[in-house]
Amino acid sequence: MRKFFKILGWTLLAFVVLLFAAGSLFIYKVKNGFPVSYETEKPSISIPADKPAILLFSKTTGFRHEESIDASSLVLRSLCHKNPSWYLYETEAGGIFNPEQLAQFEVVIFDNSTGRVLDDAQQASLEKYVENGGTLMGIHGAGDDSHHWDWYEKNLLGAKFSHHPLNPQFQKAQVSLQDTTFSPGLSTTFEGNDEWYVFLNQPKDATIVYSIDGDKILPSGNMLWMKDKNFGMGKNHPVAWYKMVGKGKTFYTSMGHSKEVWANPDFVSLIEGAIKWGYKK
Ligand SMILES: [Zn+2]
Repeated sequence: MRKFFKILGWTLLAFVVLLFAAGSLFIYKVKNGFPVSYETEKPSISIPADKPAILLFSKTTGFRHEESIDASSLVLRSLCHKNPSWYLYETEAGGIFNPEQLAQFEVVIFDNSTGRVLDDAQQASLEKYVENGGTLMGIHGAGDDSHHWDWYEKNLLGAKFSHHPLNPQFQKAQVSLQDTTFSPGLSTTFEGNDEWYVFLNQPKDATIVYSIDGDKILPSGNMLWMKDKNFGMGKNHPVAWYKMVGKGKTFYTSMGHSKEVWANPDFVSLIEGAIKWGYKK
């Protein structure tokens, strides 16, 4: 009998140790990113020299907004029909992030791209691309805190992601135009229904394009043991902004969680306006 309890004791101890190790590993991965594979092979592409080329990049190694990514691809293709001079290249492989191929694009869009998606050399290529006059755009998940890339956070966002509301996760809000750089074509107000990202600060050195009234949403992201996630950004809650970075530019919108957002003509006009602004030198 004593032997039985001895075995039971050791088994329980081993179980607790294993559980602790697995838990620690999970927390480490959430904080530092999951192991990622990088694509280093350069794709063979030929981009027409006379067309503004757009790189739609949807690789994810963090949360994947599958439906939004699929819907965005269809919308971007239809925008290219509307603007026949545009050339669209879609990929989820990072091999294209090299100096000579990036230089052929006017606009690079991180389309709900999450997690660490590029290796060090590819990240450096994108940094140089923007600083030398390129445009980087980010949509929704591209602004969460899964990227672990200081340059990106500083220059695309200028703000640190905190959380998104959970109670409820999706809320309606009036989205109000604050800047007319992308006009004409943008509505002064429209109703958005989205997962309104909350950042820890107002975007630094940015021009706000659209904002919502932060006092009119419920920003709480509290769950189980995670508390203090009910603070917002205050009344002035930006949801789309742009920045000038060296000779280049960046644009980010926190809207775009669901596929329904891509059916909203006001949101699509914002993306179209940002692309046009992005390739205008
Ligand atoms: Zn989302």
